[in-house]
Amino acid sequence: MVLDLVGVGIGPANLSLAALASQVDGLRARFLDRTPEFHWHPGLLIDGTTLQVPFLADLVSLVDPTHPLSFLSYLRDHDRLFPFYFAERFHIPRAEFDDYCRWAVKRLPSCTFGQEVTQIRWSSTQEAFEVITPTETLLARNVVLGVGTEPVIPEALRGFARHSAQYLEVRDCLLREDDVTVVGSGQSGAEIFLDLLRRRGGGLRWLTRTPAFAPMEYSKLGLEQFTPDYTRFFHTLPEPTRDALVPAQWQLYKAISADTIADIHDELYKRTVGGGWPDVTLAPGIEVVNATRDSDAIELTVRHRHQDITGTVRTNAVVCATGYHERDLTGILGELIGLRDDSGRYTVDADFRIGLTPEVTGSVFVQNAERHTHGVGAPDLGLTAWRSATILNAVCGQVYRLPERTAFTTFGLVREKRRAT
Ligand SMILES: Cc1cc2nc3c(=O)[nH]c(=O)nc-3n(C[C@H](O)[C@H](O)[C@H](O)COP(=O)(O)OP(=O)(O)OC[C@H]3O[C@@H](n4cnc5c(N)ncnc54)[C@H](O)[C@@H]3O)c2cc1C
Repeated sequence: MVLDLVGVGIGPANLSLAALASQVDGLRARFLDRTPEFHWHPGLLIDGTTLQVPFLADLVSLVDPTHPLSFLSYLRDHDRLFPFYFAERFHIPRAEFDDYCRWAVKRLPSCTFGQEVTQIRWSSTQEAFEVITPTETLLARNVVLGVGTEPVIPEALRGFARHSAQYLEVRDCLLREDDVTVVGSGQSGAEIFLDLLRRRGGGLRWLTRTPAFAPMEYSKLGLEQFTPDYTRFFHTLPEPTRDALVPAQWQLYKAISADTIADIHDELYKRTVGGGWPDVTLAPGIEVVNATRDSDAIELTVRHRHQDITGTVRTNAVVCATGYHERDLTGILGELIGLRDDSGRYTVDADFRIGLTPEVTGSVFVQNAERHTHGVGAPDLGLTAWRSATILNAVCGQVYRLPERTAFTTFGLVREKRRAT
């Protein structure tokens, strides 16, 4: 049987697609993930951490709030609507989002775990993609890659540090060390620093290359850069402009929530009552350029980027909260990738379709692998349901009605209509 759609990877992105697809009559879809069961960033489900977006950025609500797999349906299913109502929480605990997604997975028979897709080929005779796993080959007219991102450890620290993605696995070991260094000042770095500060009290250092421990942009108009309107506008920009914009927007995605900064400050302040000073170092503008190990410590060579001087730091353990990068899709897609941009990257059209070689008549779509074409919103949960619906509409025709206007801001120059006098 040739399926209409196969989703590779089941993180929130393809889970949203699976949920929306489940309501489309007659659509034959399957979703595969290589892990044995769904888990959302298990190494970072630290107690007290919350989603950075309101709960309405669930799998479906921003496209169809009446969908049976909405977050509110999950609450109703567990008879938790009243407690939620009184809690007045827009930003739910991260562990609750994980539990909600697992609840949704159980209601989606199209999702199969423990199946790694190793290759995708095009069969001209069948006019379908062969989606190959070690145990089966599925045939599909369309494929959606939602394979997520992978942790990055800077070259200088490889072999000397653990990544923040493994934090909860290694936390007990970190608590036994005399001196711990956290590198990186995004949200994960801040959450790990705060958790270690609360548990250890001191013997803690926080280094970051960025010039300041900066707050994440969270103003209402600033957040409009995470709308379909902005995403569509970004997609129309020339490649060099897009490439210049993404790093310039770092405070939209690389910074720290103001609440976490306040919690860290409170925790430090508490330690000064009575005249003490916390036994911690918080140092921005610092890059780790080398690491060596001897019998009792790791020695880091660090450089201050503005002073342009180097020094050394001795520590017992290093956690890198240095982010993630998009997975290389060439392994899985092989020769199928056709068009490339000036930097050799695959192209992605407005409907999230990769430019493939001309003989391929089916489509491969991507979710969360299109920052270079669609901008900073690619990993954002607030755009996930909209992107899934856009892909479904491209595959099946207009099955989900999407709003034309999603921001008060006008992105790009549009001719203003003259008012009648
Ligand atoms: C700790 C953390 C917190 C975050 N919090 C927020 C937040 O609050 N708000 C927000 O907007 N964004 C947040 N993000 C960003 C983003 O929403 C998440 O990274 C989200 O998990 C991305 O979903 P995804 O489906 O694209 O990828 P993932 O969740 O990474 O899922 C990808 C899946 O693909 C599977 N896979 C990979 N290769 C294959 C293969 N070959 N075959 C089969 N399966 C495969 C993997 O096993 C994985 O399950 C957060 C990110 C992190 C790291």
